[in-house]
Amino acid sequence: MRSVTILGATGSVGESAFDLLVRAGGAGALRTVALTGGRNIARLAQMARTLRAEVAVTAHEDELPALRAALAGSDVAAAAGVAALVEAAARPADWTLSAIVGAAGLAPGLAVLERGGTLALANKETLVAAGRLVMATATRTGARILPVDSEHSAIFQALGNDDLASVARVTITASGGAFRDWPMERLARATVAEASTHPNWAMGQRITIDSASMFNKALEVIEAHEFFDLAPDKIAVLIHPESIVHALVAHIDGGVIAHLGAPDMRHAIGYALNWPARAPLPVAALDLAAQGSLSFAAPSEERWPALRLAREVMASGGAAGTVLNAAKEEALDQFIAGRLTFPAMADAVEAALAAAAGQAGFADSPTDLDTVLHWDAYARRIAAKALS
Ligand code: NAD
Ligand code: MG
Repeated sequence: MRSVTILGATGSVGESAFDLLVRAGGAGALRTVALTGGRNIARLAQMARTLRAEVAVTAHEDELPALRAALAGSDVAAAAGVAALVEAAARPADWTLSAIVGAAGLAPGLAVLERGGTLALANKETLVAAGRLVMATATRTGARILPVDSEHSAIFQALGNDDLASVARVTITASGGAFRDWPMERLARATVAEASTHPNWAMGQRITIDSASMFNKALEVIEAHEFFDLAPDKIAVLIHPESIVHALVAHIDGGVIAHLGAPDMRHAIGYALNWPARAPLPVAALDLAAQGSLSFAAPSEERWPALRLAREVMASGGAAGTVLNAAKEEALDQFIAGRLTFPAMADAVEAALAAAAGQAGFADSPTDLDTVLHWDAYARRIAAKALS
């Protein structure tokens, strides 16, 4: 029987994956090793009971009594804390989805790679913060990474068996998020509630706000650079408000292969789950006649400075990805807490990158987790200071 683990099961991507596992037959058809979550203990316990997981893990040690109580009378073991998350990720499973949000996904993701497992990766921060380390670990252990971010799944599918050497350009699309058509001067007054809506995708709050600021796309550009080993000038972003075309791969002979589909994460998750085969998924069929038209536009780096920062990060390499990601997470926390305006998030990230560039060792890509965590902590400190 195939075995699976979901890290971040209680989130938006985790719920979509859970839905697919239940539809695939649930506990009768597959063995669930571990499910992890945060403070949503009731839901985590319910999911673990449904799939008869070996262990359910909350990231928060203070939630352990609540999790134990919620699992009472079941065969599911309860565990809590960061070390328990990593231990759960290290348990052998045929397929492990990382759907944790933020740099917190890095250590558990690395644990999957260290055991040579198959890592279905929604947690793009893993590649942005530690691309070199992550790819080198996978190569050393023979682990496989399957992209779950929709644009990267789309690139992966559009590439097929084509040689990367024949690729002239990869384009990922962006809806433009909540503020695509706002007058620029209004952005400084944007509220958290306004930034937390997305025209096409239902996602967790953090990635939704990152879509409005385009930091999500900045992370995705770096993710594509790291995962596919593409030169920065071969990666482009295109505004596409309908979110039907997810990515385009242009070849040196002028042929362009696009990946289209309804904006539903169950496609990308299910593709990774069934890979290398394909199987039916509960995703709406694409009806282009009903859709009528698709539109595209070039993104403005004035409106979305995050896109410029992504290019600067790829050009400088070293620890820049770690710093951008961590400073962005800090700035996002502060925006959500109401202590920072929407446009100031990019200023804080820029300040952290500038400060880090003057530090010894910045030009070296981190090759171990401790070095990544050092730069991560440094960037959060600098970003917080730049804000106060
Ligand atoms: P979410 O906020 O809905 O869920 C996050 C999950 O991670 C939850 O289970 C939560 O309990 C857990 N978590 C949060 N903080 C944690 C911590 N410190 N330690 C351990 N676990 C923690 O997020 P989401 O929207 O599902 O996104 C998850 C990841 O997938 C992100 O990296 C995001 O960028 C990526 N992604 C999401 C979508 C989407 O449609 N939501 C699409 C593409 C990529
Ligand atoms: Mg995406």
